[in-house]
Amino acid sequence: MDKKKLALVIENTKGLLKEHPLCDHCLGRMFAEKLGVVSHKRLGNKIRNMLKQRPTKTCYICKNMMLNLDLHLKKMIDITKEYQFYTFLIGAILQPSIHDRDDLIRSKFKLRGIPSIKSDVTREMGKSFSRKTRSKVDYQNPDMVFTIDFKKEYYDIKPKAVLLQARYTKSIRGLPQKQKSCDQCEGKGCFVCDFHGIQEFNSVEGKIAKFLIDKFGAQQAKITWIGSEDESSLVMGNGRPFFVKLVNPRKRNVSLQKKIDLDGVLIHKMHVISKIPSDPVKFSTEVVMEIDTENEITPNALEKLGRLEGQPVVLYENSGRKHKKTIYDIKLKRESETSFKIMMKSDGGIPLKRFVAGQDVEPSISSILETNCKCKLFDFNKIIIMK
Ligand SMILES: [Zn+2]
Ligand SMILES: [Zn+2]
Repeated sequence: MDKKKLALVIENTKGLLKEHPLCDHCLGRMFAEKLGVVSHKRLGNKIRNMLKQRPTKTCYICKNMMLNLDLHLKKMIDITKEYQFYTFLIGAILQPSIHDRDDLIRSKFKLRGIPSIKSDVTREMGKSFSRKTRSKVDYQNPDMVFTIDFKKEYYDIKPKAVLLQARYTKSIRGLPQKQKSCDQCEGKGCFVCDFHGIQEFNSVEGKIAKFLIDKFGAQQAKITWIGSEDESSLVMGNGRPFFVKLVNPRKRNVSLQKKIDLDGVLIHKMHVISKIPSDPVKFSTEVVMEIDTENEITPNALEKLGRLEGQPVVLYENSGRKHKKTIYDIKLKRESETSFKIMMKSDGGIPLKRFVAGQDVEPSISSILETNCKCKLFDFNKIIIMK
């Protein structure tokens, strides 16, 4: 340590301490930068010894908060015991009066370029917490963010969401894709739904959510689907892709099997991802539709549907907007005089029942066949994400 600088600091300190008693932390912080010292506490202690001063009873700036950080540390360790994390970040909310006194001392004694008491608190807490929990401070993307509110003696934990991607196949009919939100909170999460946002688990969404909530000790599983299906639809082939955001997970390093059997729903290759795409994902589908017609359809008439191939289909929405989707391939199979099957490859997102009935879709199966048609059932053979 530079002796000249230290001598100057000692000189400055005398006046400061006479007017305002400071704890070792706060004293050291005022001069650590100038002297190139890392430990504020040790420096404060050293200066005090050189001045032959006893430790102060009550620190003018922090009112001994800095001396009681261990207490808060213990509480934090206790609260975070059930959480798995490798990196963290600590934030602090202090009494405004502490900031005021800190500023006052700094301006009165013209002490510049000194870390604020708040950054000192989070630094000290971070160091101790990191040592005790064998985790690391991460400013960019921590697994866990803690906020210690010294004003209200309140500790807040925000674990980073776990993001997942997978596909599912569905082999039973009569299972809806989506789960109705909780009546009480409309999905936000409340006491009634155990903060899951849903009360029941009898859908594809419900089964997946239940599995993941248990597996990761999460509060909620928010699912983003690539396309949608009917309650009566099967989803076959490679399955439907989906993304999950797990809110407030207690575990983050969970091993997932390649196939997860959820009784009628099979999850394939579920894995952690770093980001859920924010733009709509473009995809194409291969579906089989079972269609009933009002009037009899001759085999010749049915062939007219072949002209849909390579054609755009326009969807008119209630909002006044319209979308164009392309049909790539159509295969037909007549079942009876008033029923047939179509195997169709097309852009994803065509509302199939409306496309068959001709409801705000042009052209449609009904308009081409010139009779009212109804889609009884549709199953997905394949869903392909287009890059
Ligand atoms: Zn202090
Ligand atoms: Zn609720």
